[in-house]
Amino acid sequence: MWFSKKPNPKYLLPTKRCTSTVLIAGEKYNNKGFYADVYIKTSLLVEWLEDYLSSVSGGSEIVKICRNQMLIWLKEADELDKSVTVLDSVQQEIIRPHAMDLVSKGRAYVYCKECSESYTSLVSTSDNLSKSGDERFFSLSYKCPNEHFIYQNEHMIRYIK
Ligand SMILES: [Zn+2]
Repeated sequence: MWFSKKPNPKYLLPTKRCTSTVLIAGEKYNNKGFYADVYIKTSLLVEWLEDYLSSVSGGSEIVKICRNQMLIWLKEADELDKSVTVLDSVQQEIIRPHAMDLVSKGRAYVYCKECSESYTSLVSTSDNLSKSGDERFFSLSYKCPNEHFIYQNEHMIRYIK
């Protein structure tokens, strides 16, 4: 053939075996709005990802490849290794938007530096900021039981009539 086919986007799993705990979002990744780090037990992340994969579609080619490969990689984790696994950027992109939801559901936990303690349950507040047409902007924050900020970010909901 004289023409070359478009190369497939390449995604390579981390070569390091996954451990019993995964850092899914937070300050260490420089994620906007996070003032603490969010962790999850790998077995609970596997459960979540299986559910998620059955309902999700779309995303870029590389995200689709990563979603499926990540499940296999997570299932092969070494549960006896108590160190924390850091995700690569594609994996982070997939999981980060769900991090606070996983905390709310009691699956993930956060480590508050101020308290030097891990929490599975946080205090959440939401404040309305503004409304314009069908769009509503609000701020969502999560604090530890001692009122230290864990997460704060602005969100937007668009109402479809
Ligand atoms: Zn605290």
